Amino acid sequence: MKEEMDRLSLLSLQLDKETSKTAIQAIETYNHLKEFLSDPPYLKRKNTHITIIGGGIVGLMSALFLLKCGYAITILEKKSFGGAASGRNGGGVLSLGRELSEIPFARLAAEIWSSLQQEKIETKYASSGHVMVARNDVEQEKLLAAHDLYNTAGLKVKVFSPVDLKSTVPDLTAEIKMGLFSETDGQSYPFTTVTSLLKYLKEHGATVINHCEVLDFKISNKTIDYVITDKGNFQADAFLLCCGPWTTEISKMLNEPVVVKPRRSQILVSEIVNKRRIHPFVTGNSLYLRQTHAGNILFGGGALGKQMGTMFRIQTMH
Ligand SMILES: Cc1cc2nc3c(=O)[nH]c(=O)nc-3n(C[C@H](O)[C@H](O)[C@H](O)COP(=O)(O)OP(=O)(O)OC[C@H]3O[C@@H](n4cnc5c(N)ncnc54)[C@H](O)[C@@H]3O)c2cc1C
Repeated sequence: MKEEMDRLSLLSLQLDKETSKTAIQAIETYNHLKEFLSDPPYLKRKNTHITIIGGGIVGLMSALFLLKCGYAITILEKKSFGGAASGRNGGGVLSLGRELSEIPFARLAAEIWSSLQQEKIETKYASSGHVMVARNDVEQEKLLAAHDLYNTAGLKVKVFSPVDLKSTVPDLTAEIKMGLFSETDGQSYPFTTVTSLLKYLKEHGATVINHCEVLDFKISNKTIDYVITDKGNFQADAFLLCCGPWTTEISKMLNEPVVVKPRRSQILVSEIVNKRRIHPFVTGNSLYLRQTHAGNILFGGGALGKQMGTMFRIQTMH
């Protein structure tokens, strides 16, 4: 008998550990966070200077939030802004697939992404939805269990039949048994977002410095006096580490070890396909897939080291 493999590598939800209780906690956390973000008075500070280390999406979005709270901001980036993962990733703005503890943050992130346009920050964000597909009974069982937990956690997720799937993504192979669809998931352009955020931050008074590597910290009485960089020393009232996978190295300088395990991830981009073949973000079978506004089809995956399979008929793209 053919062994049925679980290739739902983008489903991080731990079905053996999560319960409806943790799902309900996810709603409570979402409500608390929403209230906090609607009016964070205790965060509003004038004349307080924060230096952010790392100019990826986390550093830049933190800068935007803190700038709006009234802080003076400096960002130090060792290479180019968005030059690491933040400028060249799959562009998926996804909740479906995540652990329940991440769902409140992911739901709010989708709301923040859709609000950036109003600030004239160009992201090309589209709330296109996201479908995760099951190819066999093992995967189907997992997605059905995930469906119940996600809905309890406040994420609107629907079960898609093979007919629904075919009408949403016509190029899926006939092998697909069912899918889960999250209507609030979306996609964006990573590099456009980073460039536009950077422009906004500069125009609103942030100091942004690229090719400036933090090499060490001057610490006295358990307080950082200043950071030492290859462009001189920088003082601030507080420092925020947003160094992605380099956090491990930088945290050693502070004698506060933080372990970050980098994950290998790859992307393949097709030439422009004029016809719109794929509208939602699609995941399953150790792959993810989307079509950009320009028409390129983007395949991504990796991470688990399992052999990738196929799930799309791609012979008739033109
Ligand atoms: C191929 C690929 C596809 C992906 N697809 C998706 C997706 O579809 N959806 C999704 O949500 N996520 C995706 N991700 C993950 C996502 O890109 C990352 O989680 C995110 O970009 C991390 O942002 P960051 O700002 O924390 O880190 P980074 O983008 O790594 O930024 C950290 C920055 O810190 C700087 N830095 C490091 N050390 C120093 C120092 N000493 N001094 C000054 N600066 C320093 C670095 O140069 C870097 O620019 C993908 C990642 C990859 C690689």
